[in-house]
Amino acid sequence: MALPFNKLVIASGNKGKIREIAHVLAPLNIDIVSQSEFNVPECPEPYGTFIENALAKARHASQHTGLPALADDSGLCVDALQGAPGVISARYAGPQPANSLLTQDERNNDKLLTVLSRISERQAYFYSVLVLVRSPQDPQPIIADGLWRGEILREFRGTEGFGYDPLFMDLETRKTVAELPLEVKSRMSHRGQALVKLLQALERVSV
Ligand code: IMP
Repeated sequence: MALPFNKLVIASGNKGKIREIAHVLAPLNIDIVSQSEFNVPECPEPYGTFIENALAKARHASQHTGLPALADDSGLCVDALQGAPGVISARYAGPQPANSLLTQDERNNDKLLTVLSRISERQAYFYSVLVLVRSPQDPQPIIADGLWRGEILREFRGTEGFGYDPLFMDLETRKTVAELPLEVKSRMSHRGQALVKLLQALERVSV
């Protein structure tokens, strides 16, 4: 596929996300760089919807780097919690205390286990929205989304991935995402599905 650009900045500092995106986009043979390499300041995510936050992050990264930018806004939505933690998944347990021995992901997972401790309905899904802008004011951002259904376990399993992966069990393989290798997660995940759709949309605008 001949793209109208050969360098793309990923509007995120999350190494897990960047690794997954770079893995799926590798066949494009373009230079994929993290916004961390450009010291892009953190973008506020004030919105209550994934799409608005993703668009804000993509425009912000493009503005600060002068490059086309791809943002992912994603999260875990638990049925019994009416879709929480949703857009605030990354900061579900509140801001990271300076002296905490646990990572933000570990604190988020601990909070989720506590909140769900007396709840037997464990269905949940991961959701991802991707937004690609070719310039900060791109009037036609390319948008794609993906959704992955599963169940929240009562204990951690696996060491791969990031975020809620050790607690989220895929219904087909009965494995947690943290037990799945990167290639398998990329084929099944919310982000992987959204990336496939994004590539199809890019193909349409690139011809
Ligand atoms: P964002 O950076 O504001 O989009 O927040 C994304 C957050 O959602 C991450 O920090 C994780 O807590 C959660 N999340 C999104 N995708 C995944 C995934 O693939 N695995 C595990 N957690 C995820």
